[in-house]
Formats: sequence, structure tokens, C-alpha cells
Amino acid sequence: MFIDSHAHLFSKDFADDVSVVLTRARDARVTEIVNPGTDLETSREALTLARANGMIHPAVGFHPHDASKADRGSLAQIEELSLDPSVVAIGEIGLDYHYNFSPPEVQRDAFAAQIAIAVRRDLPIIIHSREAEEDTLRIVGEFVRSHPTWRTGGDGRGVRGVFHCFPGDPAMAQKVIDWGFYISIPGPVTFPAKPNRPNVMAAVVAATPLEYMLLETDSPYLTPVPHRGKRNEPSHIPIIAAKIAEIKNVPLEEVGAATSAAVRRVFHWEERTSETKS
Ligand SMILES: [Zn+2]
Ligand SMILES: [Zn+2]
Repeated sequence: MFIDSHAHLFSKDFADDVSVVLTRARDARVTEIVNPGTDLETSREALTLARANGMIHPAVGFHPHDASKADRGSLAQIEELSLDPSVVAIGEIGLDYHYNFSPPEVQRDAFAAQIAIAVRRDLPIIIHSREAEEDTLRIVGEFVRSHPTWRTGGDGRGVRGVFHCFPGDPAMAQKVIDWGFYISIPGPVTFPAKPNRPNVMAAVVAATPLEYMLLETDSPYLTPVPHRGKRNEPSHIPIIAAKIAEIKNVPLEEVGAATSAAVRRVFHWEERTSETKS
């Protein structure tokens, strides 16, 4: 059993066949999927998809690419959407200095404003960070220090969120785990290392205990080997799990069980399910 902790099923790439994609995911034993929004519209679509299909868990937020759209009114609407009991996180939010589709200072303001929403709502965050690790850690670190009870209830055991498509090295992984975050591993872990370009993600997997690790496709992007060049989809999760099993020299089932348990600790599904039932 596997969980895809990050897939954008509202993407136009899935407009024609999302139900087929979900059936293929189930056939591949991918039983649940977190579907993070990237702006106000796609956050609403994430909620709509989740209402239509119980496999899907929505998250709401402005991606750094769309930070320019995150004005005061839109952020208030994100906070309002987050009141829906199906919403599992604020995300995806963060910084992306590779493309700078939104100016860096606008990205930083939107990121901090959305972490503040997560703190107020006591929700976890899904962080996107690309070529912006220093600023990401500075901003996240400030919130961790100034809000010690965020997600921890004071006992220091809760999980504050996940660094999706983990962008760092083993030392950064250890640092964010110490702050109460998990890391998420996507398809590029399957990319072969080249003599001048080691696969840092594989090194992170080797160095990090499974209990802090999530699986993700980031569909429709980041397609793993051997499907590179094609659309990515949640049914590819077992390929990523198999690579992690190979790196850590453990059975595939152990990777599935450990990463699924980690997803539930991050997003608190057990509590939410019992709340819905009562
Ligand atoms: Zn991302
Ligand atoms: Zn994403």
C-alpha cells in the first residue's frame, strides 16, 4: 500500500482522464493522494476533486510562481478555504528562485503570510523550495522559533510539514527533521548519477531514516525512469518506492508501510477521519 503525498490532479494534463488515472493508481496499490493547490482557482479545484473522490486529500495555497496573485483578499480566501475539514495542509507554498516567475521579495511575503495562516489554523505546510534554500530555511526557522506550539501542542512531537521534492543534502535533511519537518522523495531519485553529477537525492535517502520520508510524484511533472518524457501520474509511485527499497536495502512493503505512516503523521488523517465519523 502506498500514498502519493503530492500530485496536481487538477492540471489540464488530467482533464480528459482523471478517473482512469485514479483507477490505475488503485490498481498500483496507491490508495490515497494529496492534491496541493498552486493558486486560488486550483485550490478550489483541489477541494472539488476531493469531494468527488475519497482518495483525494486537498491542500490550499499559492505556489511561489503564483505569488504575485496572492494579494490580501486572495490570502483571506485561502484561509477561508482551509476551514473546510477535508483540507490537510497549506500548500504548496515556498520560494523558487530558479524561474523567478514572481519577484523574490513578493515570493517571500506570500510564503510568510501563508505560514502565518498555517500557524493560526494549526495546519502543516507543504514547502516548495528551489535554488532558494537559504531564504527558505531562514523564514521557516523564524516561525519555528516564534511559534513553538505550532502543530506540537507543546509536547514537541507533532509534524509541522514537509519539504516536497526535497532540494537539499543529507545535512539539510537532518536540520529540517530537527525542526519537526519530513522530506518527500519524487521521481528524480531514479535518475542515474553521472560522473560529474552525483544523485544527491539518493544520498539523502541513504542517510535519512524511512520514518521521516514521504513518496510523491508531483504529477504531471518529474516523471521517473523509465517513463521520462511522458506525463507523470500517481500509479508511478511504486517505481519511486522500489528505488528507495534498493538504496536502503529493505523490502518494498517496508517502504510502502513506513512512508504511508509518515504521511498520516504529517497530515493527521486518523484524527480527521474519526472527527468526521463522530
Ligand atoms: Zn513544487
Ligand atoms: Zn507541486
